[in-house]
Amino acid sequence: MNKPETIEDIIIIKLGGAEGVNAGAICADVAALKQAGLNLVLVHGGSADTNSLSQALQHPPRFIISPSGYSSRYSDRRTIEIFAMAVNGKLNTLLVEQLQALGVNALGLCGLDGRLMVADRKAAIQSLENGKRKIIRDDYTGKIKSVNAALLHTLLSAGYTPVIAPLAISTEGVALNVDADRAAAMIAAALHASVLILLTAVAGLMRVFPDEHTIIGSLSQTQLDQALQYAEGRMKKKILSAQEALRAGIQKVIIADGRQGQPISRALAGNGTVIQ
Ligand code: ADP
Repeated sequence: MNKPETIEDIIIIKLGGAEGVNAGAICADVAALKQAGLNLVLVHGGSADTNSLSQALQHPPRFIISPSGYSSRYSDRRTIEIFAMAVNGKLNTLLVEQLQALGVNALGLCGLDGRLMVADRKAAIQSLENGKRKIIRDDYTGKIKSVNAALLHTLLSAGYTPVIAPLAISTEGVALNVDADRAAAMIAAALHASVLILLTAVAGLMRVFPDEHTIIGSLSQTQLDQALQYAEGRMKKKILSAQEALRAGIQKVIIADGRQGQPISRALAGNGTVIQ
C-alpha cells in the first residue's frame, strides 16, 4: 500500500525492556518531537516485567537457546497469559498514561488488535539444552509475516501515537509472543518509515562488549554479518532486526542509549550506532 499523502516521515522507536531504559525521558522526547510535527510509532518490550511477574505467579521464566545461539522466552500458554498481563496490560498502559500526561494522544494496542501483526507460529522449535538438541512443541512464539499498515496509517492520520506491545495473532487466531525488536523492524518496513531507532540500556553496539570505548559510531549494511559475530545475547537480535529493516528498504537504523535525557533527539543527531 502506498503512503497516504497526509503522512510525512514516520519514525519507529523501540524501547527496550531492560532495566535502566528511561521511559520518562523517552516519553518527554516523544512529546517534544510530536509537537514539532513528527509522526511517531512506539514499540516496546517487557522482558524484565515478564520475568518478575512470572516469578510472582510461580511460573518461573525459561529460555530456549536455538542451535544458532539465539535466546528466546519459552512461551507455553501460561507464559503467554503472563506476558500479556505484564507487557500488554501493565507496561503498555503505563506508557500510554505517561504520554497522555504529556499531552500526546497515545493509543495502546498489541498485534492482536485489528490483526495488526499476523505471525506464523513456530510449531516445533529446536532448543539446545546441555549440548543436546531438544524439540519443543508447546511453544507459542511466532515470526511476523504481515503488518496491518492501513490500521496504523488510519491512527496516525487521526493524530494518535500508536504504542505497540509485542504480541501477534496467528492465522488460526491464537496469541503469539513475538520479538519486539523484530516487530519494530517489520512495522518500520510496512510503514516505509524514514528511520528505526532501537533504544536500549547501552550506548550502542560495542566491538568488545562491555568496553564502552569500543562503541561503533556507524556501520554499513554489508558489515552486519560481521557484527553478528561480536554482538552477544540479545544484541544479536537487534543486529538481525537492523538487517531485516534495511533489506526491506528502511534507510537508517540507529541503536542508541535509552538511559539518558532526549534519547530520540540524540539518536537522530547521530549518537549511538548508526547503520545504513
Ligand atoms: P532491550 O533493550 O531490548 O531490553 P537487551 O538489554 O535485552 O535489550 O539487549 C541489549 C544488551 O545486549 C545490552 O544491554 C548488552 O548487555 C548486550 N550486548 C551484548 N553484546 C553487545 C555488544 N557487542 N554491544 C553492546 N551490547 C551488547
